[in-house]
Amino acid sequence: MKDKEIFDAIQKEADRQLYNIELIASENYVSQDVLDAAGSVLTNKYAEGYPGKRYYGGCEYVDVVEDLARERLKKLYGAEHANVQPHSGSQANMAVYLTVLQPGDKVLGMDLAAGGHLTHGHPLNFSGLLYNFVSYGVDKETEEIDYDQLREIALAEKPKLLVAGASAYSKIIDFARIKEICDEVGCYFMVDMAHIAGLVAAGLHPNPVPYADFVTTTTHKTLRGPRGGVVMCKEKFAKDLDRSVFPGMQGGPLMHVIAAKAVCFYEALQPEFKTYQEQVIKNIKALAAVLTEEGFRLVAGGSDNHLLLVDVKKSFGLTGKACEKALDKAGITCNKNAIPFDEEKPFTTSGIRLGTPAMTTRGFKEKEFEQVGRWIARALKNIDDEAELAKIKEEVRALTVNYPIVRGA
Ligand code: PLP
Repeated sequence: MKDKEIFDAIQKEADRQLYNIELIASENYVSQDVLDAAGSVLTNKYAEGYPGKRYYGGCEYVDVVEDLARERLKKLYGAEHANVQPHSGSQANMAVYLTVLQPGDKVLGMDLAAGGHLTHGHPLNFSGLLYNFVSYGVDKETEEIDYDQLREIALAEKPKLLVAGASAYSKIIDFARIKEICDEVGCYFMVDMAHIAGLVAAGLHPNPVPYADFVTTTTHKTLRGPRGGVVMCKEKFAKDLDRSVFPGMQGGPLMHVIAAKAVCFYEALQPEFKTYQEQVIKNIKALAAVLTEEGFRLVAGGSDNHLLLVDVKKSFGLTGKACEKALDKAGITCNKNAIPFDEEKPFTTSGIRLGTPAMTTRGFKEKEFEQVGRWIARALKNIDDEAELAKIKEEVRALTVNYPIVRGA
C-alpha cells in the first residue's frame, strides 16, 4: 500500500517546482539520469570504508561507482585527490577542519554578514563552537573583498587556516591573491566553492584547485547534481582527509548519492555544460540590467557569477522579508538575504538574493529573464496589492508550464 500522505506532498512539490519561477541561487533541477541514480537500489547497500578496503561484503559494484565518481571529479577540476563521501557541504567543511585543526585553533573566514556561510564560523554552528573563527569582510564602498585589508587581518591574526568562498558574493574571487597571503602568513588554505562549482568546472570562474590545500563544494548548486558534498585536496593530505571523513565524521557512505554525483560529474565534463554555464551568466547580466533600469540598487554594482544581491531597502524602503513574501505570492521564489553592513536583523534583512542557475536549466534565456525582472519590479512596486500579485502569478504560470523540469526523461 502506497504512503498517500507522503506521495501527495511530493506531487504537490513537483507542481510547485513546475509552476513557480525558481530564483534561489543555491538550487537547481537535476537531470533524469541524476534522479534515477539517486533513487536507485544503491540506497540498500552498506559500504563503510573506501573502494577495495570495505568493512562489508558485496561491494564490488559500489566500488566501481565510487572509483568513477572520484576519477571524474579529479578530472573535472584537475585535483590530486578526491573524497566523494561527505553527506553535505557542511560535512565536507567539517572533514577539512578535522584534518588540519585542533579544537580552539584560529581560522580566518569571510564574515557571514558579508556573504560567508554558517560553517565559516557562525557561533551556533559546529565551526564557531569548536574553533576560534575571526573574519574578513568587504569594502564599504565597493562591497567587494578588499585583498589588502584581508592581508592585514591575516598578518595580525595569524590563523592556522584561511577559508575563502561564500554563499552570497556576486563577484569573482581572486584565489591566486589569497594563496599569496596564505604563504606569507604560513597558514593552510581552504576554498569552499559550493556556490560557484559549476562555473569553475566550465572555466568561467578561476579554479581554486591549483592554489588551495583543500577545496570543498556541494554538488547540488551550480554543479547541478544531487544534494551532497565533496572534498578535493593535495596528495599529501589524502590519507588524513579520508580518515577524517570515515571513520572521523561519518559511517556508511550514501552510495546512491555517490552514483548520482558520478553522473553529475559526467554531465559537467560534456561540452553542453559549458554552454549552460555561459547562459547562466548571460541571464544574470540580463536580470541585473532590467532591475537597474527599474530603479533597484544592486550590491557591488551587479554580478560576475550566477547570483545578485538586491538592496531593496535603499531602492524602495522595503525589507527582504516582505519582498520574499510578496514574490512568493507572485509565483517567484527567492530568499531574503543580508547585504553588507545590513542594519536589519538576519530574519528581516535589507536584501534579497536572486540566482539564475535553476531557470537557465529549464531553458530561460535573456528574453525570459528580462520578463522576470519586470515581474519582480511590478510585484515589489505593488507589494500590498494582492490582486496585482495574483495576476502576476497567473502570468508566471502561463510561461513556466512551457519549460518542463526534468531533462532527458
Ligand atoms: N558552503 C557554502 C558556501 C554554502 O553556500 C552552503 C550551502 O548553502 C554550504 C557550504 C553547505 O551546504 P549544505 O547545505 O549541503 O550543508
